[in-house]
Amino acid sequence: MKTEILFKTPLTQEQQANSDLNLSEFHEGRPILNSAPRRIVFELTNRCNFNCIMCGREAVNFKTNDLSFEMLKACEPFFTKTEEITLHGWGEGTLHPKLGAILEYLNTFPKLRKYFVTNGSTLPKIMEHVFAHHVDLIAVSLDGATPETNNYIRKGGNFVREVANVKRLMAEKAARGLDYPYVNFVFTAMARNIHELPAMVELTRETGVAELKVVYLTIFEHALAQESILDKQDIVRRYFREAADLAQKYGIKLKLPEIQGEGDAGEARHKPCAFPWRDLYIGSDCFVRPCQSSADKLFDIRSYASPAEAWNSPEMQAMRQSVNSDGLMPAGCSNCYHSSCANWNLASSFVQLGKEFAPQWNPRESVEKSVKGA
Ligand code: SF4
Repeated sequence: MKTEILFKTPLTQEQQANSDLNLSEFHEGRPILNSAPRRIVFELTNRCNFNCIMCGREAVNFKTNDLSFEMLKACEPFFTKTEEITLHGWGEGTLHPKLGAILEYLNTFPKLRKYFVTNGSTLPKIMEHVFAHHVDLIAVSLDGATPETNNYIRKGGNFVREVANVKRLMAEKAARGLDYPYVNFVFTAMARNIHELPAMVELTRETGVAELKVVYLTIFEHALAQESILDKQDIVRRYFREAADLAQKYGIKLKLPEIQGEGDAGEARHKPCAFPWRDLYIGSDCFVRPCQSSADKLFDIRSYASPAEAWNSPEMQAMRQSVNSDGLMPAGCSNCYHSSCANWNLASSFVQLGKEFAPQWNPRESVEKSVKGA
């Protein structure tokens, strides 16, 4: 299943053993794990220099936080076992003032994969860190193949700048003879931009990027109703087909979501989910959440003596026991809109008017309390 899978890079024996154990504990449905998380997600910040139309960060009572370096270091006992550190969440993680130091620190742990998603605007500023501290994987969000479309959706974005930044990153990688970072584009498909998908494949080719990943827009506000591609299967099918033909011609990896109604999840609230076994997700306010696509907050990780204790806390055990059980799972999971786990047969995966789309972050003052165990 998709939520079991992580990007593959060479692992140490200790990491491989942990991942094997973690997967077997997931398959056995164990609520208490002897394995460490295979992936730890640190939402470095929920600040952003863009204001994308579908993000709607303005619609919530938005409190900005930067995650402390100490919180990240408190998870150090995991770092020889964990496969991947993901540095993203609701904001633009590359805006974190200590990004370079964080990457340098993480790079002291052998084979610990480093991954972040970015809007691409800051790439020139962080490029030396990317190469010096071995960032394995970078996903760049672009929501149009033209300045008009992309910049309308990604308010504050600049298509020409972002594309130039990606080209520069790819040129530097080639000039240095490096095989990292693996770069992909992530495109959120909606009514306004779906016709530009074939052109996105062309852009992927032109920039030398290896992969284009397409995710569906989920709308939470009436103002975006016209952007939903709910019940637009004919249009979606047409552009997916055109994009797939081009991608095949160019040898580009194209990841497409299933067509609405054609998935094999039936009427289930979501596809089977492995996240509570695989991932530890720490928000910028230090609250553990089930994943990025859930507004539910499970607990403040500082309320436990250590992240290891939090990993098998009653809340994490309850998540593991409920996430795949209809009627028991938390509200966010019963409205799952995560690209890997949502059931795209359901209209509710596309349209969630009035539902919570993001957590209410705690204010900065509470975040700056000392981190227990750090
Ligand atoms: S919302 Fe719940 S079910 Fe969906 S991916 Fe996140 S943790 Fe899994």
